[in-house]
Amino acid sequence: MVFEQSEVWHERAKHVIIGGVNSPSRSFKAVGGGSPITMKQAQGAYLYDVDGNRYIDYLAAYGPIIAGHAHPHIVEQVHAAMAAGSLLGTPTPWETLFAERLQTAIPELERIRFVNSGTEAMMSVIRVARAYTGRSKILKFAGCYHGHSDPVLVAAGSGPSSLGTPDSAGVPASIAHEVVTVPYNDVPSLEAAFATRPTEFACVLIEPVVGNFGIVTPEPGFLEAVRQLATKHGALLIYDEVITAFRFRFGAVKYNSVQPDLMALGKIIGGGLPIGAYGGKQAIMEQVSPLGPAYQAGTLAGNPASIRAGMACLDVLETPGTYEQLERHAQTLEAGIHASANEFGIPHTINRYGGALTLFFGDTPVRSYKDAVATDGNLFAAFFHAMLRRGICLAPSKFEAWFTTVAHTDEDIAQTLDAVRESMREVSQL
Ligand code: PMP
Repeated sequence: MVFEQSEVWHERAKHVIIGGVNSPSRSFKAVGGGSPITMKQAQGAYLYDVDGNRYIDYLAAYGPIIAGHAHPHIVEQVHAAMAAGSLLGTPTPWETLFAERLQTAIPELERIRFVNSGTEAMMSVIRVARAYTGRSKILKFAGCYHGHSDPVLVAAGSGPSSLGTPDSAGVPASIAHEVVTVPYNDVPSLEAAFATRPTEFACVLIEPVVGNFGIVTPEPGFLEAVRQLATKHGALLIYDEVITAFRFRFGAVKYNSVQPDLMALGKIIGGGLPIGAYGGKQAIMEQVSPLGPAYQAGTLAGNPASIRAGMACLDVLETPGTYEQLERHAQTLEAGIHASANEFGIPHTINRYGGALTLFFGDTPVRSYKDAVATDGNLFAAFFHAMLRRGICLAPSKFEAWFTTVAHTDEDIAQTLDAVRESMREVSQL
């Protein structure tokens, strides 16, 4: 495979776009550097690059493209929305219809507000929690990503109940000091954090199924403990379902009997267009302006194209058998990857939940960020490039997931597993 034009475009991009990318996760920094592939088109399960190469896509644009690329129903709805006026600057019926639909699927969303990204949703929901509780501190879990707003860009792994240090230049230490980070799936650390600051936390933020240090599920009893400790100490429980909402049917909110107070959504609910949403208990959401004192606004919020793309995406997902197929394909991938890795003696761990999985290079279980960090990044990088050369597009980081989409066929999965086997053979010879 030749990547010549991708290199040309990346060099050109670097002169105008900082780093040549509009999101750092698109660079190949985490997989040994080099030019990221410049894609020019996508259809169904496939991405096409500027050199004319075709890839079977498991990146799914980091999650939103669950219906596959350029799904005709979504395209048609977006065309219709644009033709009817792209931005009206007033309420529209579409946003209410969509909010009703989300609420029917997830009754915990007693009141909703649409925003434009997952970052915005999390930033806003934290403000609401602080307004409601009158507290400022936030408890989060190491390795969980909640967007790039200041308070959540705090170093992971700083140890149970230690105060955070900024994970990014430009985040004031005073803001990072408002955040306490504890390891995922670690109830004693959580108890210790609450014991140290029993009445200081406005909220606990959690990915109820993790997507940001690979797919990691909460162990039995973990979410229950989080809920119980938050309630006991007067902190709100906020589910960040930016990845999980509608990736796992109605989202992780249906994972067990645990109910969050508030939640954030994004990605899939925009069908590939920019969106975010937050919502939850009415009494808490009444903090939000214009009803309450917590200000949050957006010129583009609830724009008809994003809303109608999201509705169309949910239409696609409601087709009977969809989630079963997403999961069946992910199971087939999981089994095939295991078989090839075992054949070539590659230590590995696969975490899968529904139609999402992460292949870690290492043979110890991955249940926390620390475990994910300890897996072999060099082997992942080699495997990533071996797959890319065979026409399979994965996310360029060992901390991301493979997502199955409605567009993947049995034949795509079989071809992918052939590429997995050849790639495992290649990396075993390193
Ligand atoms: N929360 C989670 C769990 C996410 O995975 C992401 C994005 N990967 C965000 C929030 C931020 O969303 P966005 O990139 O749309 O701002």
